[in-house]
Amino acid sequence: MRFAGLRPLSIQTFLHISSLLYQIRVQAHSTSCKATPNDVSWPSLSQWATLNQTLSGRLIHGVPPATACHSSGPGFNASCVEIEAAWSSFTFHQDNPVSSAWNNMNNDSCLPDPTAPCSAAGYPIYVVNVSSADHVKLAVDFARANNVRLNVKASGHDYLKRSTAPYSLSIWTRYMVGNYEFHDTFQPQGCSTTINTTAVTADAGSYVADIYHRLDQHNQTLIDGMGKEVTMGGYVTGGGHSPLSHMYGLGADQVYQVEMVTPMGDILTANECQNTDLFWAVRGGGGSTFGVLTRLTVRTLPATPIAVYKFSLQTAVNSTVYWEIMSYFLSQLPALSTANVSAFLYLYPYPEIMPSEGLDPKASFEGIFTLPSPSVPNALEDLWLPIYSHINATWADQTTTQATSTVFPNLYSMFLQYADDSRAGVDKVVGSWLLPPEILTEDAMMPALVDFLGEAGGRLYMVSGMGVWDAQPRGGSDAVNPAWRKALIHAGTFELGCVVAI
Ligand SMILES: Cc1cc2nc3c(=O)[nH]c(=O)nc-3n(C[C@H](O)[C@H](O)[C@H](O)COP(=O)(O)OP(=O)(O)OC[C@H]3O[C@@H](n4cnc5c(N)ncnc54)[C@H](O)[C@@H]3O)c2cc1C
Repeated sequence: MRFAGLRPLSIQTFLHISSLLYQIRVQAHSTSCKATPNDVSWPSLSQWATLNQTLSGRLIHGVPPATACHSSGPGFNASCVEIEAAWSSFTFHQDNPVSSAWNNMNNDSCLPDPTAPCSAAGYPIYVVNVSSADHVKLAVDFARANNVRLNVKASGHDYLKRSTAPYSLSIWTRYMVGNYEFHDTFQPQGCSTTINTTAVTADAGSYVADIYHRLDQHNQTLIDGMGKEVTMGGYVTGGGHSPLSHMYGLGADQVYQVEMVTPMGDILTANECQNTDLFWAVRGGGGSTFGVLTRLTVRTLPATPIAVYKFSLQTAVNSTVYWEIMSYFLSQLPALSTANVSAFLYLYPYPEIMPSEGLDPKASFEGIFTLPSPSVPNALEDLWLPIYSHINATWADQTTTQATSTVFPNLYSMFLQYADDSRAGVDKVVGSWLLPPEILTEDAMMPALVDFLGEAGGRLYMVSGMGVWDAQPRGGSDAVNPAWRKALIHAGTFELGCVVAI
């Protein structure tokens, strides 16, 4: 049916109208977007100066550190040499107000590579160097009042780009560290119950190496990570696994109380008796989503010996034998876990650096197996013996293997030797899965492993177990991904981009 007076639109007219409608939609949308420095609503220089004054000079201009390497810009200077040298270390990015551990988190927009373009477009515009809840509140209130995007950065280790944001005002917790209070028992604020375990209260920017060290002086430890610079704020809000998690639960499960600043600028305490919804949400519910944590109280544990068995193996590159052995390994993990063993497995089906001509490239595997509080010094070796014998009996002529065994006096001394020593300063894209124990059979694993890790390799962390499955977080539950309560392994694979200018 045709309506009188209406003609079908030509394709040009249709495209023109569509484009107008699209522009109207974008404009309508941008009024609800956060301000950018190009908008009239962006705070004036005098407003930023007033904020800086209120913060007693804690406002920093967000300058990408690698501007020092670009002769076309005003930031060009001799420190480029040191920046290039430090770019692959996590500490460098932790200590810089705006830099992230992975280049792609800042959109690769300013790298220490003089031949590439450099712009500040991937970075926050201003940073507040906070050391107290009051500083955080001032930043949150300013961002809310002026419609400025807010960001929270601690170490900048986040794999999902959540600790940086272009055009933002960033809250940097690098110096909100320490201020430790040690408790023999802990009574959450406003509660009549006393929790009868030891605990520590610390600033949210406190980082793993410092916390382990401080607790070591009290002959204690806690559930925390294996990356030296990872902070309490990011670890606990992300769930947090440790070599002791299979016995005691995840990092989020250990929290007794948090002090935080909400998006409305309220400084409050959340625990099992007050602000219970926030208390639930911040434990595993995602970094910076529900507010900014400023202090946390978490359970601590007595420091006990920990046995470590390090096993490495080499075989032909990406061969069937390699995947057969890996599948066999995985099928053995549930039994090891039942015997209280935790494991960090690193699979490299291709070598990271190809050997020079004439040498065969090798596929390799390294496993760090740990057993807390071994009943006898060689308890872990005994558990390993049948696995080692099976590998030798089945694949001896196609593999070279190496094993060492040590009993460390406590987790801290093990951490000092085995802390994550991977490199920052590259592009990194990560994918991960939580694997339940029942799928770890040899037949099922072989094709899945090749499919999942065949090209890039990856890491399999056997860090879950009864302690995570049966965890009893305060208040009854927390926001940790429920898949953790059935998983045994946190498996991750990653794509690495080029290493820049090192
Ligand atoms: C080398 C290395 C080793 C690691 N080892 C482990 C490990 O053993 N176990 C483990 O579970 N994980 C480990 N991780 C992962 C690590 O826990 C996460 O990357 C975590 O998000 C890092 O937190 P962060 O605060 O240090 O980093 P950031 O990147 O600064 O922050 C991560 C997220 O938390 C938010 N955030 C940070 N502080 C606060 C705060 N005070 N309040 C509210 N939100 C906040 C940020 O906005 C961001 O969204 C490791 C990562 C690396 C790079």
